[in-house]
Amino acid sequence: MSDAWFERDADALPALEAMLRARYPTLHAFVVDGVCRVRGGFEAVPGDIYGIEVGLPSNYPASAPSVWETEGRIPRELDRHVYPDGSLCLGTPLSLWLALDGDFGLDRMLDIPIRNFLIGNSLVEKGEPWPYDDYPHGPDGIVEHLEELVGTGDGLKLGRFLLNMMGGKVRGHWPCPCGSGEIIRRCHREGIEMLRRAPRGYLMHAVESILKGLEQKPDAA
Ligand SMILES: [Zn+2]
Repeated sequence: MSDAWFERDADALPALEAMLRARYPTLHAFVVDGVCRVRGGFEAVPGDIYGIEVGLPSNYPASAPSVWETEGRIPRELDRHVYPDGSLCLGTPLSLWLALDGDFGLDRMLDIPIRNFLIGNSLVEKGEPWPYDDYPHGPDGIVEHLEELVGTGDGLKLGRFLLNMMGGKVRGHWPCPCGSGEIIRRCHREGIEMLRRAPRGYLMHAVESILKGLEQKPDAA
């Protein structure tokens, strides 16, 4: 086991604390059992303060932290995008990586996915619909998200395409996987280029989830 991020770099935790004091003075970092957590009040929009806790991973900021709402304000229901342990469903690892361009720095996490999530929750509390794409949880949600980028919601095609892409085989003059008859360069190029930049581990996780999803419903394969 390598040391946690704040042990490898003695300046890292003081820098995080300085960032919190300057930008989010009601959030505080502390280390318990070798894990750095950030806890306190977070103002989603002026006047609307949530109690949150963020568990920073040992390789922070290279992968996504877990985030909990701590005051029992959001029901722990998947329909509300909250897991039974109270952690927020901020998206799949791949969708988060793409949204943040691979930088899971706490300020970016707070300003983008966490704030957006909490704003969405506040709207739901007022009886309005969840304002974001409502991907299902699990493999179907991963497929739906990738369908927007690649143009096909066929799990088998998607899995094959991603594996080819990871193998460096996909070329711009290939027919687009969406089936339009165009070459990739003139069709879903943008989404596919985005995916190309994602780390292998995130893509592999997506492929494995898609294949697992196909196994669970053999009729649809
Ligand atoms: Zn296309």
